[in-house]
Amino acid sequence: MWGKIADMHISNHPTISINGVLRPTYVEIDLERLTENYRAIQQQVGAAMVMPILKANAYGHGLIEVAMHMQKIDVPYLGVAYLEEGLLLREAGITTPILVLGGIIGSQVPLFIKNDLTLTASSIEKLEHVDRAAKQVGKQAKVHLKIDTGMERIGVHYYNAKDFLKASLDYKHIEVEGVFSHFANADSLDLASAKLQLERFNEVLKFYEDRALPVPIRHIANSGAVLQLPESYFELVRPGILTYGVYPAGDIPRSVPVSPALVWKSRVVYFKVVKPGHPVSYGSRWESDHMVRVVTVPVGYGDGYFRAMTGKAEVILRGKKYPVVGSICMDQMMVNIEWDSAYNDDEVILIGEAEGERITCEDLAEWAGTIPYEVLTNINTRVPRVYV
Ligand SMILES: *Cc1c(COP(=O)(O)O)cnc(C)c1O
Repeated sequence: MWGKIADMHISNHPTISINGVLRPTYVEIDLERLTENYRAIQQQVGAAMVMPILKANAYGHGLIEVAMHMQKIDVPYLGVAYLEEGLLLREAGITTPILVLGGIIGSQVPLFIKNDLTLTASSIEKLEHVDRAAKQVGKQAKVHLKIDTGMERIGVHYYNAKDFLKASLDYKHIEVEGVFSHFANADSLDLASAKLQLERFNEVLKFYEDRALPVPIRHIANSGAVLQLPESYFELVRPGILTYGVYPAGDIPRSVPVSPALVWKSRVVYFKVVKPGHPVSYGSRWESDHMVRVVTVPVGYGDGYFRAMTGKAEVILRGKKYPVVGSICMDQMMVNIEWDSAYNDDEVILIGEAEGERITCEDLAEWAGTIPYEVLTNINTRVPRVYV
């Protein structure tokens, strides 16, 4: 199992190139941009620690490279969703504290403790299990307690939290380092739900104050809350998508200036003239009523360029936007350039900007009927990541 994880990691890693020749379709990540975004968030949240969230291959930006960079700029904590993501980071030599945010199963617990990964405990049973495992491993387990204040995903319900917090004080092999919750609607302009969750969280946290106990690190703010709910910052904030320079929703106040770190590019690999009455691609869903020039680009839904964007997507070629025409295939797609010129090897921008034209991951999200988060995490491992 271990060998497999390691092999998988290497084959995904980081620039898929043969003899130094990169695949013509690739993603470019600006690490300096990540630093700027991190600093802009830090500026906003004042004394609170910023824990960048690196789950799902660092929102498509490359787990290991982003973590290496974050460690280099001395971020105090990293957040991931799964044990396996934490293990990959430890294997890569990342020594920064790592909180695994997601739910866990019992057999995973010893691996957390052995690899200094901070656990999320979301029930008394889990705490008991962690305590037993920590005793066996012979090491303290570091734990953050998860309170469910309205997301109904994981965590002890806020109305049952007192027993949970009380119980957490009794385990000899557990250090309760943090206590946290998660917003369901912090990216909404209507903040009533988020404020209710925050109120419930504050109510739960009184447990410590009432008993004059030291208060663990408290956290609840995701990107949406960083942007519009300063009273939720506490000692730590957990921005994911904002770290990568993308806003969690189109209409949210852009109170922290960040900009995208990711550009997605490809190249023209074929040029032809298509006559009217000759439909393009699977299902013959598109044809022109006049002669057009059509280029083929080696990217498709097998790379994470959603097929659902068929009929809507555009790309930038030679500083101008052109429509993708016909069904998006698994590995290729066609672009109608009317009677403009283009040549094999010309750069094609899928996400990014050139000469004043701009295509954002929000645009792709709209064309695909999804959210920017899914656009980023959907760019799969067949697409090499290049770091600049
Ligand atoms: C994904 C996640 C975050 C980050 O969310 P963004 O909206 O990307 O900022 C924070 N906390 C938890 C528990 C998460 O699952």
